[in-house]
Amino acid sequence: MKKIAVIGAGTMGNGIAHVFAQKGFLVHLIDTQQAALDKAMATIGKNLDRQINKGILTDDDKINTLQNISTFTAIEKGIMDVELAVEAATENSEIKKSIFRLMDENANDDCILATNTSSIPIAELAAVTNRPGKVIGMHFMNPVPVMKLVEIINGLDTSEATTKSIVELTTAINKIPCVVKDAPGFIANRILMPMLNEAMYAFSEGISDAATIDQIMKLGMAHPMGPLQLADYIGLDVCKNIMDIMYAGFNNDKYAPCPLLVEMVKQGKLGIKSGEGFYKY
Ligand code: NAD
Repeated sequence: MKKIAVIGAGTMGNGIAHVFAQKGFLVHLIDTQQAALDKAMATIGKNLDRQINKGILTDDDKINTLQNISTFTAIEKGIMDVELAVEAATENSEIKKSIFRLMDENANDDCILATNTSSIPIAELAAVTNRPGKVIGMHFMNPVPVMKLVEIINGLDTSEATTKSIVELTTAINKIPCVVKDAPGFIANRILMPMLNEAMYAFSEGISDAATIDQIMKLGMAHPMGPLQLADYIGLDVCKNIMDIMYAGFNNDKYAPCPLLVEMVKQGKLGIKSGEGFYKY
């Protein structure tokens, strides 16, 4: 593969574009918002500078990486001629389904359509396309340029050839693929999110303050970030969405989002991105 489209230029989209472009792929970064594209290019520039300061990249690498990325505001234009499209737009199944319909209509027949969804069933997105064998989950971790894991999710109809291509591609961009089946929350979020949710319950019951809860999990379990700090970093709206999807998908109360999480999202306290969550920024 040589040419890749990334749809959605937010937190994850800019990271995914960065990683592919740095490895020499031509990347079409697509977002409906020009402001999101401008912000993404600025963020990629800053993150490349950070890599230069650490001695990982040279100034020439930065120039080449940025030159490999072109931006588009229409999927129809940006997806033409690419061999893989990675959808990383807002975590909302209606938005993603409309994007998958557009991608399917406008991409080459042999183009693989991947999604970076944290929790929406791959089969649900594959079902709106005419190429379910070429639809797959490619779940990158945040921050993408740093984190090694890519959780690869096979939908019900994903072909073996599609999985093989995506596993090889993941290795080619210096990440480590772990292949799992399609189920609510897959593996990473199915295990992570209930832990964050439980920390929120402990906090809301006044068992301890946020800093102490985080300290206990950092020192006691060798986690690099505490659960409440991590929830702020991921975005409390994202955490709530994932819990909602697992709650509905498993029809099991143990996945119900903590009432405090629901209330904070209602109040617009979304973590780092809104300036306040369990901590103030
Ligand atoms: P974000 O809100 O930062 O960015 C989403 C972007 O999608 C925005 O720029 C928005 O303008 C764009 N968008 C919305 N509708 C669009 C459309 N129709 N066409 C093109 N672009 C559109 O979100 P994010 O945190 O980057 O999350 C993106 C995806 O990655 C979600 O599915 C999320 O669940 C998943 N994910 C997020 C994280 C995380 O830590 N944030 C980690 C792993 C996976």
